[in-house]
Amino acid sequence: MISRERIMSALRNYSESDIKVATICSHSSLQIFHGARLEGFATLGITLPRNRPYYESFPTARPDIILEVERYGDILSDDFQRRLIEENAIIIPHGSFVEYVGAQNILEKFYVPMFGNRLTLLWEGDRRKQRHWFQEAGVAVPKYFNDPSEIDRPSIVKLHGAKGGHGYFNASSPEEFNRKFEELRSKGLIDREADVVIEEFVPGVRYYPHFFISPLGNPNLPNLTHGSLELLGIDRRLEVIDEVYRGLPKIMEEYLDYTVTGNLPVVVREKFVVDLLEAAAKIASASRKLFNPGLIGPFCLEMIYHPKRGFVVFEVSARIVAGTNLYPLGSPYSPYYYSEPMSMGRRIARELKTAIRENKLHELIH
Ligand code: AMP
Repeated sequence: MISRERIMSALRNYSESDIKVATICSHSSLQIFHGARLEGFATLGITLPRNRPYYESFPTARPDIILEVERYGDILSDDFQRRLIEENAIIIPHGSFVEYVGAQNILEKFYVPMFGNRLTLLWEGDRRKQRHWFQEAGVAVPKYFNDPSEIDRPSIVKLHGAKGGHGYFNASSPEEFNRKFEELRSKGLIDREADVVIEEFVPGVRYYPHFFISPLGNPNLPNLTHGSLELLGIDRRLEVIDEVYRGLPKIMEEYLDYTVTGNLPVVVREKFVVDLLEAAAKIASASRKLFNPGLIGPFCLEMIYHPKRGFVVFEVSARIVAGTNLYPLGSPYSPYYYSEPMSMGRRIARELKTAIRENKLHELIH
């Protein structure tokens, strides 16, 4: 793993008056660049040549500087990293950045200063580690099954490393698991050793609240051991299975698919705001214990409200998520923290600006 000292030595040579907010051009990058501009930062976008004109076509979110790469893997070359460092670039890792460059590559080969705590990549990328994290936090979670033979209720089977819910299936017994697993295997969709995680299927309503934790602030909520925490928006993911009723009266198999296809804005019933903030504060505090200094900046909890059990957390995304793209000018919650339109992208830039002013930039880069 790249040592913190190596990253800090690059950061120490940065000209703080010429910092550039940088990332790969993607949907979330629009919000990141737009917000950075509003906070007075120059911006730098990394793109494939083919995508360049598209990302240049947004007048208020176009990066000031564009660097092209033939393949995203080229970002890891020494030449490219040195170029980013010469530009005083601070990388904002969004979902596509992590996916295209690779979490392991970022940990082992990427020494450009990056907003947030890199160790988070290890914890969010491994579902078993995530469970440990939730247990440490003391939040309600689905029941986990370590082995298919333990399945004794409706369950969801997640292929380890599967992206965006594609290829998940339901099983209520070991027999059903074996049958469906074999079916996928015979179609060549998974191999025999495919690693799966199995958890209880929690019936209820899904919510995906977006939070920002600032290590520069002081605890503003119960259960929070460090930083200040804000709820900046909530979405619900639009998954194929949400439309299953369209095939009625028959359940069509194609609809039994959890692939994420988009996001809808959501507000929760008023009294639930407390539950969301409580869970987020516990998860943030546990992160500090497990991988100091813990979460920094944006994160999202994936939760289900069960009519009897209340909120159950089934996943965490420890970075800016696609659902925040609903709110480039702020959300139904952000006006209660800021009097100007505050997107998650702008919030990140605001944090960088505050840190520069207070001489604490090193506290945001790990
Ligand atoms: P994930 O990859 O964990 O984000 O899950 C993808 C989708 O599967 C979620 O957005 C939910 O719709 C569904 N899902 C995941 N875990 C559960 C669960 N324990 N109970 C019910 N639905 C779930």
